[in-house]
Amino acid sequence: LHHLLEVDNLSTSFFTYAGEVRAVSGVSFYVDEGEALGIVGESGCGKSVTVQSVMRLIPSPPGKILSGQIRFLGQDLVKLPEKQMTTIRGKSMGMIFQDPMTSLNPVLTIGRQMTEVLQRHEGLGKQEAMDRAEKYLEMVGIPNCKRRLKQYPHEFSGGMRQRVMIAMALLCNPKLLIADEPTTALDVTIQAQILELMKDLKQKINTSIILITHDLGVVAGLCSRIIVMYGGKIVESGTVQDIYKSPQHPYTWGLLKSVPRLDALSRTKLVPIHGTPPDLLKPPVGCGFTARCAHAMKICAEQPPGITEINPGHQVACWLLHPDAPKSTFDEKGRV
Ligand code: SF4
Ligand code: MG
Repeated sequence: LHHLLEVDNLSTSFFTYAGEVRAVSGVSFYVDEGEALGIVGESGCGKSVTVQSVMRLIPSPPGKILSGQIRFLGQDLVKLPEKQMTTIRGKSMGMIFQDPMTSLNPVLTIGRQMTEVLQRHEGLGKQEAMDRAEKYLEMVGIPNCKRRLKQYPHEFSGGMRQRVMIAMALLCNPKLLIADEPTTALDVTIQAQILELMKDLKQKINTSIILITHDLGVVAGLCSRIIVMYGGKIVESGTVQDIYKSPQHPYTWGLLKSVPRLDALSRTKLVPIHGTPPDLLKPPVGCGFTARCAHAMKICAEQPPGITEINPGHQVACWLLHPDAPKSTFDEKGRV
């Protein structure tokens, strides 16, 4: 059986005056029909570049997809002409970003923007398009839709604007919804409401979702599987259960310690991960986490760890788990 989206060995670089920035190297993953996948990691880990590659929205130059395949609806998107890609982005993939203002036109009413999408991609008549727009605003929980359609983006609150963006992204019933940090700019209460809405919509319309976030606390309610990225690579992937209950990569341990609580009362102290991510202009030879890892061994700095499958679907790239890792170093450093 085929996956809805299958990314195979994707590498994307940016060619800057200072040299090649290897933003994404050798990333492989899939998303099934009706499934929500979370991609988690600090800023600069390559999660946004990964989905921008999938959508073929890498600014080029300086960016370039160097290698890999992105199979979606029976086509390899890496090879697809831009014209067909525009159609795919309009109809089959929906996108939500952190700041809705970057994708909403400030001088057009919400109704005008929504109906234009429907007229262009679905060939709907004006009234038909208005009716669909109203129905979708209602679906994302915006009251007084008829009046709201006549308003401009600035007349909506941050949370309401994000709801509008979600409605717009879903207008043409896309197979895949890509949400890049959709709640990061919102306060915690609104964050929780938007996540609740996305969960609710996933049940109702059965769209597949990729949710990108720097916050592991955000994905659990919505996603069934999680990918953890670090330094342009996938360091751990598994089910929500695998990642929360039995994380195996030291970076994932660090992320879990820095999960903020959604309820404001339990403001537990967050433990930041010390140090900074690797410079992707000069990617480390071995494991990218070596400089920050409390469990690093000699081999970590010398050779990149291969992928170990702990159990079906739970994969980790760390020397601690590699069958070829020198066993003696385990004892010296001590595993947790
Ligand atoms: Fe730490 Fe080594 Fe594992 Fe990298 S491979 S996370 S440095 S133990
Ligand atoms: Mg980003």
